[in-house]
Formats: sequence, structure tokens, C-alpha cells
Amino acid sequence: MRLASETFRVLRVDLATGRGTALEFGAVGEILGGSGLASALFERFGDLAAPWNAPEQPIIFAVGPLTGAFPLMSKCVCGFKSPYNGQYAESHAGGRLALCLRFSGYHALVLTGQARVLSSLTVGSRSIELADVHWLRGQDVFATGKLLRRVGGAGSSGHRSILRIGPAGENGAAYACINVDTYRHFGRLGSGAVLGAKNVKAVTVVGDADFALPEGREYPKLFKRVFDTVTATDKMRKYHDLGTPANLAPLNRIKSLPWRNLQATSDEGIDGVTGETLAEQLLLRQTACAGCPVGCIHIGLLRQQFAKDHEYLYRQVNYDYESIYAQGTMLGMTNASDVLALLDETEKVGLDVMSAGVALAWATEAMQRGLIGEAETGVPLAFGDLNGYLAAMRRLGAGAGEFYRLLGKGVLRAAEAYGGEDFACVLGQEMAGYATGELFYVAQSHGFRHSHLDCGAYAWDQEHAEHDVEGAVRFLVEDERARLTLCCMVGCLFARGAYPQETLQEALASLGLREAADNLERAALGVQKKRWSLKFRTGYDPARVRIPKRFLEVTTWKGTTDPEYLRSLSEVYSAAIRDLADDGADDGAASGTAPGMASGIAPGPANGDAAQGRAGRAD
Ligand code: SF4
Repeated sequence: MRLASETFRVLRVDLATGRGTALEFGAVGEILGGSGLASALFERFGDLAAPWNAPEQPIIFAVGPLTGAFPLMSKCVCGFKSPYNGQYAESHAGGRLALCLRFSGYHALVLTGQARVLSSLTVGSRSIELADVHWLRGQDVFATGKLLRRVGGAGSSGHRSILRIGPAGENGAAYACINVDTYRHFGRLGSGAVLGAKNVKAVTVVGDADFALPEGREYPKLFKRVFDTVTATDKMRKYHDLGTPANLAPLNRIKSLPWRNLQATSDEGIDGVTGETLAEQLLLRQTACAGCPVGCIHIGLLRQQFAKDHEYLYRQVNYDYESIYAQGTMLGMTNASDVLALLDETEKVGLDVMSAGVALAWATEAMQRGLIGEAETGVPLAFGDLNGYLAAMRRLGAGAGEFYRLLGKGVLRAAEAYGGEDFACVLGQEMAGYATGELFYVAQSHGFRHSHLDCGAYAWDQEHAEHDVEGAVRFLVEDERARLTLCCMVGCLFARGAYPQETLQEALASLGLREAADNLERAALGVQKKRWSLKFRTGYDPARVRIPKRFLEVTTWKGTTDPEYLRSLSEVYSAAIRDLADDGADDGAASGTAPGMASGIAPGPANGDAAQGRAGRAD
């Protein structure tokens, strides 16, 4: 088999019957792969009007044309209708999944229907097996992984990827995640609940096929050049050394790190949870996604006083900037071991660490203000108190009682019932860890994935004190498209410095995908429009986005939030994405219209790399 082809090979599995169908789908030159492939497959197999948990709704895992061929093409895109907001959503994860999926012979796996009993699906190049695993009901993520590996028979460990959900996914929590190979996740917007609704506890993908690499000198030469760029230069070193937690201290210094439900943006307790502290005291090892020579995944040692099951037991806990923010500073925790202990609990129940941390931060402030009490939470909650948070996290994962069931639907759902919308730290979904200023608040609230990874707004805020609405919105639109191009391939966003557009075109050409190489820019614009169109057609309306009052009270290095600037950014960005969505609905392919122009924004130079973070870019 050839590694690259002009169309995508897709495996569709009907979970009701356990039968699969392989099909050729789409053209690489038009939909590119990854994000473009997942959205095209959702358009083909999804029901835009039906609810997220309708059995016929697909959940899609897609890789790109460069997967398996180049370094750091290590990510997989999950496309689904979100239980959090009912809209088409995407989440991205690394681990071994991308390479295993490609080496199982497919670019995408589409799961439709609903399994009769709680099941585990195993897919390889010549096999599909749907097994009854009702005995795994209620098991946590780690126990599930251990048991599946024990009973497995699913190929050698290096060539298989295991996805699984915890109790939160089974219980339909709107921000339940899918754990991928223990240390990576499809974290945000609830893909874990979608698997749960399909009665799927786990999916194992076995990469048991072979591919011939391209002939000629062009491919190995380019491979070496990219490999040298990511290993022999400083481009990626920061991700390996301290990793993204290196950003905690600088963001705290410039008053951009959320503390205690964003009641503050800086605190002197930072020393206990910086990247440096974790590296000195708790870092056990670094590891990597398959196909990545960088290894940014930091694993900390959780010592025995927290591992109550056995005197000599220790646990290995993955940490990064976002998880330390959400379950550390946002909860007023200033002891690194406490943060790892809470992360470990969150991993077990299978919740997204960011949303779960922000949810408990809101609950703590709501309790302080007397809106809720122990009758709702079952335990006392106080900023900095690990024991209360451990108990609350178990309840949140289990959906125990009305309060936790509502909180598991999202902070705003709980605030509707109990009050406290003003201090709900929600920007489209529970906020990421950047209180950097107006552009970030607008970008996450309105952005396609409501993610800090949609674009580099946090970096723009750190570089731009001036209020240039048109320039800022043009940056959002163009930076999103630049990132989206890489997310179609599907590369790790940390590697975007190593993969400028020309390098991606060379890479595609070296695999014989000349049309995709020549059409890359135009196709990426088409995918951007199509994705926005899909989000709007599944219910998104930027006019209904609200940015809670708490964000107006925040003080950063620039001072307090300017409500007028925030409003202008929100209006102009809403108009820009509406134009993209309208174009996507109209023309089926890239029209070539520059989106900024359509919304009255004067065209200007791409600014994707202009905003190198004052704090040392945190992503
Ligand atoms: S840099 Fe980190 S997240 Fe990116 S592919 Fe490598 S190990 Fe995975």
C-alpha cells in the first residue's frame, strides 16, 4: 500500500451491528484531511438537526495526508456534535492514535449507531471486533485501561492505541473527555459523553498494516530538514525542558494568570506551582506522542501519602500549563503535590481538567457567597483545600445529585439554577488559563472550538496595548486559518514554526500529492468557511454569546478591561465569522474572497507570527 493517496480511506462502523464498511471519500486537494476531513464526514453522515445523543449521530476520528510520513504529524481530530452546546465540535489529541489509525490502513474512523450493551471496539487493518464489556461499567479510566490491556489480545503494545472513557462519559457529563493512551485526551466539549451515549467504553486501534515510503530523494531530504529543525535548533526545546508550565511564572508576573475563580490575576503563592518547582521536585520523566522527537509530555510523581491504596504505591500524573492553572491557581492551590493529586482524581473519573477545575472554582465562590451550601455540594469547598476538591471531583464525575448533575452540564447551567452568572468564568466553555485581555476573551467566546488553540489571541493581548479592532480581528481570522492548515495535516500546533505553509506544500508534493500542494491556501480557506458554516447550521449564533461580568472586573498589565473595546471586537469578529459561514454555505468550495474584506476589514499582511508572547508564548 502507498502511504499517500488522492482520496481518503474511511472505515465506517455501525455499532448496532458491529459491521464495518470501508469507503473512498473526498479529495485531498479539496478537503485536505484532519479538520477538513472530519467536518466533511460529519456533513455526510451527521444529522444537523438531531440532538447530540441521537444514535445515528457520528463520532469521527480523522488524520491527515502527512500522518506517518513526517515528524510531529502526531495528532488526530475528533469531530462530533457537542453535548455542551449542541453544535458541531472538534477536539484534538495526540498519543499513539494518529499513527495507529493510519497504519490500520485508514485516514478516518466513523462510528454511528449505538451498541446494544456497553462495548469495546477493536479495529485493525483486517479486523473489526465489538466485544461486550458490561463488566467495565463504572470503572475509572485507569482501571479500564489496565483491564483492557490484560484481556486485550489487541496487537503489540507499541502499535495499538487505547481510547476509553470514565464514569463521567457513561453519565453524560457535558465535558467528559476521551482518554487516549493514558496521557493525552480529546478533552473539551464532551466527546466522552458521545462515546458513552453510544454504549462504547473503549476503542482500540491497531496499526498492523505496512506502507511503502515514497521513492526518490525529495522525501528523505525534506524529512531530514524538518527533523533537524525540530531537534537541532532551539525551536522546540522549551516544550521539552520545562514544558508549557514554564509560562506560569511569567503570566503571573504580568497579571494574566487566573487565581481563585479569577478573583485575581496574580498571587505570591505562585512559587509553589511554577514549572520550575514541578521540574525540581516532582518531574519523573518526559514522554512523547508517536512520531514526535520532541517529547513535551511531562509526567510528575505523586508520592505515596496521596496514593492511599498501598503504602509503596506511587502514581504518575501528566501535567502541563492548562491543567496546573485549572486545578491549581484557579482553585487557590499553591502546593504542587496537591495539584497532581487532584489531577489524578479528575483523570480517573474522565472529566476535562479545564472545565472541571473552573466548575469547582465557581462552586467555591458560590458557596462563599451563600448561593449554595453543603446541602448541594455534600462537602465543604474552600480555595486551597485539597480534600474538599477530591471529594467534589468524585461526585462531579459520578453526577451525584441534582447540583453535580447540573454542574456537569456546564457552569452556566448551574448558575441558571443557583445564581452566580456574573462570576461564571465561561467564554463559550469554561475558560482557558489566559486572563490576558479583551482579544482573548472575545476569541475564546466566539472561536470555533472555544479553545485557546483556535488562534493566538493570548499572545496578541500580550503584545498590543493599543485598541486596533480591525487589525486584531484580521489577526484572529488569519491566524485561525494558518493553524487550521496544520490541523488538516494533522500536525502538532507546537510545531507550527517548523511547518510554514511552503514546507507543508513541499511535504505534500514529496508524497506525490501535487494538487493538494498547489491548492493548499485556497483549500484551507474553503475548509475554514465550511467549518464555520457547519457550526452555524448546528445552532451557533454569535449574537447570543455573553461575556460574564467577572471579565470586566479583571486587571491585567494593561489595566482593567475596556468594555467598549470588548464590545467592538465582539461585533466585528462576529460579523467576520458570519461572513465566513455564509460563504461556506453558498459555495461548497473556496470562493477566494478574503474574509476580512467581506466584513469591512481592510486587508493587511498576515500577522500569525507577529505576536510572540511577552510572557513567553504559552501554548
Ligand atoms: S510536542 Fe508534545 S503534544 Fe506535540 S506531538 Fe510532541 S509530545 Fe505530542
